[in-house]
Amino acid sequence: MDFSVSEKMQTILGMIDEFVDKELIPLEPEFVTRSFADLLPVVEEKRNMVRQMELWAPNHPQAYGGMGLSLTEHALVSEALGRSPLGHFVFGCQAPDAGNIEILDLFGTDAQKEKYLRPLVEGKIRSCFSMTEVDMPGSNPVMLETTAVADGDDYVINGQKWYSSSADGAEFAIVMAVTNPEAPAYLQSSMIIVPTNTPGFNLVRNIPVMGHSGDDYFSHAEILYQSCRVPKENLLGPEGHGFVIAQERLGPGRIHHCMRWIGICNRAFDLMCARAVARTIAPGKKLSTKQIVQAWIAESAADIQAARLMVLHAAWMIENVGAKEARKEISLIKFQVAGVMQQVIDRALQVHGGLGMTDDTILAFLYRHERAARIYDGADEVHKVSVARRILRDYEGKVVR
Ligand SMILES: Cc1cc2nc3c(=O)[nH]c(=O)nc-3n(C[C@H](O)[C@H](O)[C@H](O)COP(=O)(O)OP(=O)(O)OC[C@H]3O[C@@H](n4cnc5c(N)ncnc54)[C@H](O)[C@@H]3O)c2cc1C
Repeated sequence: MDFSVSEKMQTILGMIDEFVDKELIPLEPEFVTRSFADLLPVVEEKRNMVRQMELWAPNHPQAYGGMGLSLTEHALVSEALGRSPLGHFVFGCQAPDAGNIEILDLFGTDAQKEKYLRPLVEGKIRSCFSMTEVDMPGSNPVMLETTAVADGDDYVINGQKWYSSSADGAEFAIVMAVTNPEAPAYLQSSMIIVPTNTPGFNLVRNIPVMGHSGDDYFSHAEILYQSCRVPKENLLGPEGHGFVIAQERLGPGRIHHCMRWIGICNRAFDLMCARAVARTIAPGKKLSTKQIVQAWIAESAADIQAARLMVLHAAWMIENVGAKEARKEISLIKFQVAGVMQQVIDRALQVHGGLGMTDDTILAFLYRHERAARIYDGADEVHKVSVARRILRDYEGKVVR
């Protein structure tokens, strides 16, 4: 396995690091205290700078204006951008649009690509992904109540979704709904594109998450679909193939999420170390002289490095043997890196004392918002059970001495 970084990527990563330091981190004090919509004009200026630097949409297809980087290349980009919560948005590779772009590219019709994919890659519009329901377990997504009933040339959608991230201000949602209730469980649902201005698409509220409702891109909506009628041409991929498509969306996407989390770890780690050497804790003594803080720093360094290598290994597996063969590795990194991130942020916050609880550093924001990493894209426990099952299968009937 060779994880060396090409010269091209070293140049790109250097440019991104500099941009994040100079242009994005200085925006964060405003970002954590103001509405995102208020900040958008400044953020759009930064996006234009990224376009001029020709670093826009690093992971998206070149045919639509992206850079077309490979999985591993974009993993490194995602790590660099993850140092600021604004990174992915400003470079045009933010979730959930990134996943929607992937599936529109793979399964969209030519008309859907022109209408939705192209402006999405260009950053002219935003989208959301509307699968999880209020009353059904997101961990078992075959249990959906939302229906899309065929009526002439249309589907009529009814259901109650929540956690449709970034629906506020989005142009369209990709909605998962039951179209074939008589089919086997995994072939009952379909993905349907629903423009958010369709009558019956009702954004009820941005859900308060850890006390913050957020707004615009940084929000998670509850949506009521009430007799929401869209033409059948809005079906994405074959009818009943919603879960097949959802799997495409999740595999490689997890690499990028995990590398974004490594970027967050790096940022929290930097803040922790800088605070430890700067804070005087007793006359002539810095916090960094305390063994317990030194242990946190050493353990965090080891945890981050181990997590990072696990993600790069999983990316290598996907590229060399395929996503299907790499399922165990993908599940392992999903819960492992989320846990490491949570612990590193927590240690960094602790080292900052009362300051860590304020919005004067980015740590409190990260602490609030990144806790969800252990829940979305498969809760920790779901991945652990799945990995354990896979491992134990190999021990069935095996004699071990
Ligand atoms: C910040 C955030 C953003 C999100 N964005 C989106 C989005 O854009 N679009 C979207 O559709 N959804 C989104 N989600 C929803 C997310 O995918 C679900 O929350 C997730 O799938 C878990 O589903 P649930 O909340 O219904 O929990 P449940 O399925 O009710 O599970 C609750 C808990 O039960 C345990 N559990 C569940 N299954 C098992 C099992 N098999 N074995 C052992 N324990 C188990 C786990 O501890 C789990 O946390 C988002 C969620 C969050 C928090």
